[in-house]
Amino acid sequence: MQDIISKTPTQLYIGGQWKPASDGAQFTVYDPATETALVDVSNATVDDCLSAVDAAEAAGKIWSATSPRNRGEILRKAFELMVERKDYFAKLISLEEGKTYAEAIGEMAYASEFYRWYAEEAPRNLGQFSRSPAGNNNIMVSHKPVGVCLLITPWNFPAAMATRKIGPALAAGCTVILKPASETPLTALALAALMEEAGVPAGVVNVVPSRNSGKVVSAMLDDDRVRKISFTGSTEVGRILLSQAAQKIISSSMELGGNAPLVVLEDADLDVAVEGALVAKMRNAGESCIGANRMYVHSSLYEEFSRQLSEKMSVLKVGPGLEEDVDVGPLVNADTRDKVMELVNGAVDAGARILTGGKPLQRPGFFFEPTVLVDVAPDSDILHEEIFGPVAPIVSFETDEQVIALANDTDFGLAAYVFGKNVGRALAVAQKIEAGVMGVNRGFISDPAAPFGGMKQSGIGREGAHEGLLEFVETQYIAVEW
Ligand code: NAP
Repeated sequence: MQDIISKTPTQLYIGGQWKPASDGAQFTVYDPATETALVDVSNATVDDCLSAVDAAEAAGKIWSATSPRNRGEILRKAFELMVERKDYFAKLISLEEGKTYAEAIGEMAYASEFYRWYAEEAPRNLGQFSRSPAGNNNIMVSHKPVGVCLLITPWNFPAAMATRKIGPALAAGCTVILKPASETPLTALALAALMEEAGVPAGVVNVVPSRNSGKVVSAMLDDDRVRKISFTGSTEVGRILLSQAAQKIISSSMELGGNAPLVVLEDADLDVAVEGALVAKMRNAGESCIGANRMYVHSSLYEEFSRQLSEKMSVLKVGPGLEEDVDVGPLVNADTRDKVMELVNGAVDAGARILTGGKPLQRPGFFFEPTVLVDVAPDSDILHEEIFGPVAPIVSFETDEQVIALANDTDFGLAAYVFGKNVGRALAVAQKIEAGVMGVNRGFISDPAAPFGGMKQSGIGREGAHEGLLEFVETQYIAVEW
């Protein structure tokens, strides 16, 4: 895989130039499947990030004046290049993040689609014109690019979390500075090179990996020229960033943590529910914000559902993501693996039974066995915290009202899943669950054409769809007479 790494840039991308950090510092990116170093990447300083703001500010004047059609055509070209290069990107994603090659190809399909979608949205950034109800005013409304945007992304979907922000920002006429997660900066740097090839002018997209996240992000948020922060990551960090953004009252979009309930009603088709639960749980080895975190199964199906799910989980092959026939890759790092172990131990100490799995693999790499837990005590941490690992805790319930209350008993409200043959009843339950994105009789829900985002402490704003474009515009109203 050295060829994949050797063709990937490792320096900062600022103003259309590849540059080392101003103090020459670098940090190391590791392969979670082997725990070995992949390569060193430049570690942006505050000065580097402020020069990225200079570049984005300067480029903004030209980019916002570029016609929407031309902006769309550049995004379309970037989409085509991503499709053409999906094999290279999928291997790179797998190397730095751990997911299997098949899943990384899936991420590339999802990630590239944001460029295609926003290539089409760019010319549809429509305003409106109307006459006021009293007939004494003409109301003209237009959408202007918000300006220089700071984009911060997590490690779990290094391509998709970046394109889900860059696509709408560029379509709207904004310029961006992307600070990718330190675990996975390589995909973001490779994307910058691809964007340049697609015709994105210098300074429109800048990428500044940095291990000094808190410091560099604070400095950029303190700069009056930055008018927007779009963050995807934990609720804990989102809360810090929102309070910093409040100092300058800048537009803030937050895609934060989740604690998705998966509900299996008494009339559910068991095959559909088990298959959906497997998909919703095991995406990216469980490291997904919309991963099914807790499963609530009607008491009449509880035993059979648990048995079938553990049968399917127990035959999944765990191993390095780039090896053939592997179903589940490693977790991203030792901390993530240790936290999963801690949550499983806590649940077992409180009385849960392990039907399959339950521990890390004894080999290099941060592997954890696909795990099913039953008889989980209601106050176990595993039901209240994001597991971010391949562990399915299953709890039984009796009535729809009870399961709705259980599902909503959390500060989070990102995703939820409901399974039931009577779709009217399943929808009635789904509509009472406080979650921004939901699957009914399916475990796969992400779609670039649909608005994605959380309620409660899972976030503010939406990504994808037309809503995603509106996160990057200012609305201007003009009262006009002629
Ligand atoms: P994280 O620790 O919050 O980090 C996310 C990003 O913020 C990274 O780029 C990180 O940089 C940066 N960061 C960390 N501390 C910071 C600070 N004090 N100031 C400014 N930036 C800071 O989250 P993660 O571990 O990467 O990702 C997992 C979390 O993301 C989970 O909670 C998951 O649910 C959530 N997530 C949500 C969505 C969604 O759409 N709602 C999607 C994916 C993931 P470093 O890497 O350099 O620390």
